[in-house]
Amino acid sequence: MISFFDLTRAETARIAGGPLQASQLFKSVYQFHQLEAAPFDLSLPTIVQSFQSQDGTRRFLLRLEDGESMESVIIPGDDRLTFCVSSQVGCALGCTFCLTGLLGLKRNLTTGEIVSQVVLLEREGRRAFAQDRFSVVLMGMGEPLQNYDNVLKAISILNDDHGFNLSSRRMTLSTAGLVPAMERLAREPLFPNLCVSLTGATNSVRNRLMPINRRHPIEEVIAVIRALPPQRQKRVMLEYVMIQGETDSLEEAEALSEWIGPMRVKVNLIPFNPAPELPFQRSSDEDVLRFHAFLLKKGIATFVRRSRGGDVSGACGQLMKKSLAVG
Ligand code: SAH
Ligand code: SF4
Repeated sequence: MISFFDLTRAETARIAGGPLQASQLFKSVYQFHQLEAAPFDLSLPTIVQSFQSQDGTRRFLLRLEDGESMESVIIPGDDRLTFCVSSQVGCALGCTFCLTGLLGLKRNLTTGEIVSQVVLLEREGRRAFAQDRFSVVLMGMGEPLQNYDNVLKAISILNDDHGFNLSSRRMTLSTAGLVPAMERLAREPLFPNLCVSLTGATNSVRNRLMPINRRHPIEEVIAVIRALPPQRQKRVMLEYVMIQGETDSLEEAEALSEWIGPMRVKVNLIPFNPAPELPFQRSSDEDVLRFHAFLLKKGIATFVRRSRGGDVSGACGQLMKKSLAVG
């Protein structure tokens, strides 16, 4: 059976007998939460386990039809939830500071597996948080731009105004810097907020931490951002993991500010989330503060991400299909 969540409304219309039927199905599934739409398969991933963090974050270990597993996270906010969803099982890019990278790539998720994470989280959000407003960030397992077609199709299904009607401003895609795919994304009519994971502002540092930098060095990554039209460039955020003795020197901060120059992009500093498998330490609070202050002085809008969900392995870079017991 064809998964409903794999289909755009136009594709649904071809199978279900016309645009009117497709529109009704989209509304009943995505707006009225009815999980029945013959002749389609509406099954969701199975929740193997969920973990509630002290800070409210909830992590879900999900099993897919073929037995593979992946993770999604709900992060509650003041007026809406953030759904952090996966795009792949594992990741091929092998960043040395990331647990998902250690797994290697198992496979891409289908469009339906990406959309159905949102359907499942929306349901859990209403149930456990009494909140139906949400944003989606593609920052779970995987490199979304390595699964380009499925990810972009999922974004357009989530955006459909007969379905979730989620604005592109409520969707964020995070990439480690796959330059050709970033160029392609820049030309898409539907453009999500874009996070670019730099984590190092010089090629020597980045080469050591992110093998992708040897194929697409930082100057190429920055060039794509510079070439974006101003309306899109404003929606770019540079993510920068603060790793002790690796990325947190003032020389890196200086290099970062030079790459940014007059661009109005934001910077998000993410204190490294440690794990026994990873050979790094988090930067000290003083070093994070110093780096932060340096960028602010250069006039760059910089934020330090308060890491959430760390106690249940739900924080950035900690998604590794762990099924630890949480008291
Ligand atoms: N593959 C994409 C999206 C998933 S990773 C990307 O790399 O952008 C989401 C974010 O988590 C990235 O910015 C990444 O740099 C960060 N991250 C990975 N491992 C981390 C760790 N151990 N501590 C803190 N952040 C980490
Ligand atoms: Fe993959 Fe992103 Fe982790 Fe790098 S940081 S290994 S690109 S998931």
